[in-house]
Amino acid sequence: MTIQWFPGHMTRARRQIQDKLKLIDVVIELLDARLPLSSRNPMIDDILQNKPRLIVLNKADLADASVTREWIEYFKNEGHLTIAADASSGQGIKEISQLAKQLLKDKIDRQIAKGINPRAVRALIVGIPNVGKSTLINRLAGRNIAATGDRPGVTKGQQWIKVGTDMELLDTPGILWPKFEDQNVGYRLAVTGAIKEEILNVEDIAFFAVKYLSKYYWPRMQERFDLGEQPRDFDTPDEIVAIMEAIGRKRGCIVSGGRVDLEKASSLFLRELRAGKMGTFSMEAPF
Ligand code: GDP
Repeated sequence: MTIQWFPGHMTRARRQIQDKLKLIDVVIELLDARLPLSSRNPMIDDILQNKPRLIVLNKADLADASVTREWIEYFKNEGHLTIAADASSGQGIKEISQLAKQLLKDKIDRQIAKGINPRAVRALIVGIPNVGKSTLINRLAGRNIAATGDRPGVTKGQQWIKVGTDMELLDTPGILWPKFEDQNVGYRLAVTGAIKEEILNVEDIAFFAVKYLSKYYWPRMQERFDLGEQPRDFDTPDEIVAIMEAIGRKRGCIVSGGRVDLEKASSLFLRELRAGKMGTFSMEAPF
C-alpha cells in the first residue's frame, strides 16, 4: 500500500515520532543505500532535534558498493555515525546495537562512574515507507514481530523488543515521508519500486532510469541489451528514446507495423532492473 501524504497526515506522523522520542535514547534512521538523500525525510533534523542518531544505509546488497562507501563518508562528514546493512539477509545487523551503544558511551560511562548499572539502550527505527523498517525490526528481534509493508491505520500498544542484553527497540517504527516537491526524488524512488507505478507514468520512470544507467553504468546496459555506442548527450531525449527502442526490440516488444511498444519495453526494463538482473546500482551519488 502506498501512503498518501497530506498535511494532516504529516503532522500526525511527526507528532507520533516526537512522542516516541521521549521514550528512547537513540534513533536509527533508515535510508535506502541506493538513494540515501531521496529516501530521506526533508525535515529529519528538525523532527529528531539533537537525539543521538545512527544512520543505516539499508538494502546495501542492491546498491553500488563504491557509491555506498562515498555515502558513508558523506554522512560521517555531516557528523553522523553511519553503516551499510542488508536487513533481509542480516548483513551488518550485529553492529547496529554496538554502534547504538557507542553513541551513548559518555552517558553510560557517567552512570557507571556514579555506581548506576546502565539499563539497556532504547531505540526507535524511523524511515520512509518501504525502506525496510519492519524487516530490520524482525531481524533485530530474531523473530517475526512487525508485519512488513505499511499499515498506517493499524494502532496497537507499543512494546519493547529485546535485542540481545544491551538494547530495547520500540516495535512500531516511525514512518516518515519523502521529499516529494522534487520530481526527480519521486522518479528515483519509483525506479527502485518504493513508489507505486500508478502514481507516476511507467514510461517516464523507465526513461529516467535508462538515462541514469546509460550515463553511469553503460557497459552493463550495452552488454545486456546489445547496444552500440554510449550516447554523448544525455539531455537530448532522442538518444534515450533510441536506447529504449533498442531494449524493446531486444525483448521482442514489437507492435503491428514493426514499431516498438515503449510501454511494454519500459515495464520489462524496470522489472529486470528491480529483480537485480542488471547487477547492483545506485541512483544517486554524493560527490
Ligand atoms: P517498511 O515499509 O519500511 O517497513 O519496509 P519493509 O520492511 O516492509 O520492506 C520493504 C521491502 O523491502 C520488502 O519487500 C523487504 O523484503 C525488502 N527489504 C527490506 N530490507 C531489505 C534489504 O536490506 N535488502 C533487500 N534486497 N530487500 C530488503
